[in-house]
Amino acid sequence: MTAQTTRSAELFHRATEAIPGGVNSPVRAFSAVGGTPRFITSATGCRMTDADGNTYVDLISSWGPMILGHAHPQVVEAVSRAAATGLSFGAPTEAEIALAEEIIGRVAPVERVRLVNSGTEATMSAVRLARGFTGRTKIVKFSGCYHGHVDALLADAGSGVATLGLPTTPGVTGAQAADTIVLPYNDLAAVEAVFAEHPGEIACVITEAAAGNMGAIAPAAGFNEGLRSVTARDGALLIMDEVMTGFRVSAAGWFGIDGVAGDLYTFGKVMSGGLPAAAFGGRADIMGHLAPTGPVYQAGTLSGNPVAVASGLTTLRLADAEVYRKLDANAERLGGLITDALTAEGVAHRVQFAGSMLSVFFTTATETPVVDYAGVKATETWRFAPFFHALLERGVYPPPSAFEAWFVSAALDEDAFGVLADALPAAARAAGAAAEPQA
Ligand SMILES: *Cc1c(COP(=O)(O)O)cnc(C)c1O
Repeated sequence: MTAQTTRSAELFHRATEAIPGGVNSPVRAFSAVGGTPRFITSATGCRMTDADGNTYVDLISSWGPMILGHAHPQVVEAVSRAAATGLSFGAPTEAEIALAEEIIGRVAPVERVRLVNSGTEATMSAVRLARGFTGRTKIVKFSGCYHGHVDALLADAGSGVATLGLPTTPGVTGAQAADTIVLPYNDLAAVEAVFAEHPGEIACVITEAAAGNMGAIAPAAGFNEGLRSVTARDGALLIMDEVMTGFRVSAAGWFGIDGVAGDLYTFGKVMSGGLPAAAFGGRADIMGHLAPTGPVYQAGTLSGNPVAVASGLTTLRLADAEVYRKLDANAERLGGLITDALTAEGVAHRVQFAGSMLSVFFTTATETPVVDYAGVKATETWRFAPFFHALLERGVYPPPSAFEAWFVSAALDEDAFGVLADALPAAARAAGAAAEPQA
């Protein structure tokens, strides 16, 4: 059984002549798993269709945003209505207030919100604001956490940086990275040691509220709480990056799960429902340092774009308790099917959850949680590519990297789970048969 990929292959070839690597975001190129990236022509509900007419049960949901499924009729209608009344004004609109209020209403520590265009812009702006507010320069981030492609935050980053095995990236100068301290995730003692070494010098700790860019790794018990108390004691700010977790893992994101309040938050993905918008927000006194009320400059020609705001606001308003119940149930069911198939084939693994995000780690230490980036890198990541391709061949689209989380939507239906259940045994056999590459 070999899926037809002629048209995608032609498009990929054409793309490489016009776009570096043929893609506009690296993980899409399938570098880590090999093969032909599928060019998508349409998507509806939990299914995507490619240029050769193959359909896939979508388990990446545009890397998070599509919790309601693709082309949800009410979201499409809201977007169409907004588009018909003007694409961009460069002046304020009422809908921006409603979206800010929706976010503030969901995440208690967030008192003010500024809209931007991508998660990268959100984290970049939050770090600038933290430095401007505290008058300090150093920042702390964790290995394997990804906060967008912000220069100062790319050190030891997850997501595509991990997928491509880049230790760091050329183009980021020593000066841009010099004030970034990188620590192992879930290692509170390391955080305490760094604060003891640099008292009064650290502007902020930025962390994924639960890590999803090295695979799904929830914070260990007490880790986020510890970050909260260490930063508060020193007068540093805690930035909770909820670009991935926000409005996916609960109505209030990861804050809704562990209740640890950050000083600043970043959001993206779900909050714009698939159009380019993101946000950062937090304590009113800190956010008041932003221009025009304060001295920290931050701006955007298309920020608060009315079409993106319509998409985000409608998505959030539709994301009610029933949607979150379905996301949790679908993630649990998916994880169960994966575990059953791998167990039946005798393939050692762990399926890990961070709320309704999940990942499959191939490891013989099946009873030991993977808690950090070193742990992820030590797993049998070479089993992932054959596992991935066996699923893709059978109409399932998982993330094309062992370092990414799997994202369910509330739109997964019985038929989709049937496709999955049919595809998984062969995928499990492929993972089991994989041979470790010789060093
Ligand atoms: C995706 C992501 C970002 C970057 O968002 P973009 O919109 O891709 O720039 C930042 N932080 C986290 C935790 C993310 O998952």
